[in-house]
Amino acid sequence: MVIGKNKLDELRSFLATPSSIVILSHTNPDGDAIGSSLAWAEILSKQGHKVTCILPNRYPYYLEFMPGIEDIVVFKDDKDGRANAAVKSADIIFSLDFHSLSRLDHLGDLIDENQHAKRILIDHHLDPSVDFDLMLSYPEASSTCYLVALIVEELYGVEQISPNMAVNLFVGMMTDTGNFAFSSVTPDVFRMVSVLAATGISIPDIHNHVYNSFTEGRARLFGYVINRKMKIFHNGAVAHMSLTADELRRFWFQQGDSEGFVNYPLTIKKMKMSAMFTEHSDFIRVSLRSRGDVDVNVFAQRYFNGGGHRNAAGGKSFVSMEETLAHYENSVKEYAAEGKL
Ligand code: 5GP
Ligand code: MN
Repeated sequence: MVIGKNKLDELRSFLATPSSIVILSHTNPDGDAIGSSLAWAEILSKQGHKVTCILPNRYPYYLEFMPGIEDIVVFKDDKDGRANAAVKSADIIFSLDFHSLSRLDHLGDLIDENQHAKRILIDHHLDPSVDFDLMLSYPEASSTCYLVALIVEELYGVEQISPNMAVNLFVGMMTDTGNFAFSSVTPDVFRMVSVLAATGISIPDIHNHVYNSFTEGRARLFGYVINRKMKIFHNGAVAHMSLTADELRRFWFQQGDSEGFVNYPLTIKKMKMSAMFTEHSDFIRVSLRSRGDVDVNVFAQRYFNGGGHRNAAGGKSFVSMEETLAHYENSVKEYAAEGKL
């Protein structure tokens, strides 16, 4: 994967003079969203730009170790108007790790108020919307962190990657590739990992922070959802699981606790597609995963107003849990009847 020279030249010219810059990423931010934002913010700050990272809502507790995360403005909790001030005075607004401003919830309304800032996308999701002045959209890239690393390499040189940047970039590259196991992983991803590792970061420490720092409640919730809530149908090829608000309360749920649960049914032989439904205050969050050719990006677009990647996508449902599960099962039938499953 190569980033086009014209795109890099355009990016260079946007960044030629010190500017006020806002970096945005998506709702329910993950390691890739946060890692790419923090690494990009650090290098731009070093170049003399004034940078503010904004997220629509809070990040999961097990990512709190990421260097610089405390400086991120969480729009939902922003009582002193820092997001508002930064967006209004921004010359450039970067959107990292999401493909459309519609994924920002209410933060999107604030962005709309600033029509003079240049809008630049750096992302790896399919079908980006077109409301950007410059699009660095590479759906074949395994993570946005990998993209940011390549861009930093081209613009400033890899020797500018500090250990803190390396930690942040590694988190996103590791989490978005299922620990470097997905088909999106290329030899060049490992070359970049080698560059990051050479800065002296501790890969076991990062791994422990991300994968071995959960609460007891999460472990028990996981046992409960697999044992009691996993339904397998369509001849063992499709699964779904669900958690209601009441069940989440019973296990002292904290944001991020159910992250990764949706992958577990795919450890079963012959399983092709898995879904997790989590009840929030005004909608049900839908998480979808698949193996091989089964395309959950199309499935999420068609049945749950969502999108994502071929093997990992999501969306929302605005009817009851019971109706949502019935809708999922019917949609699976329809999808299978078209030979897509
Ligand atoms: P997750 O299941 O981890 O929340 O999301 C998996 C993938 O689906 C991510 O790449 C994410 O960007 C995408 N995704 C999740 N929810 C939505 C949504 O509501 N709309 C769209 N377009 N994509 C989503
Ligand atoms: Mn990503």
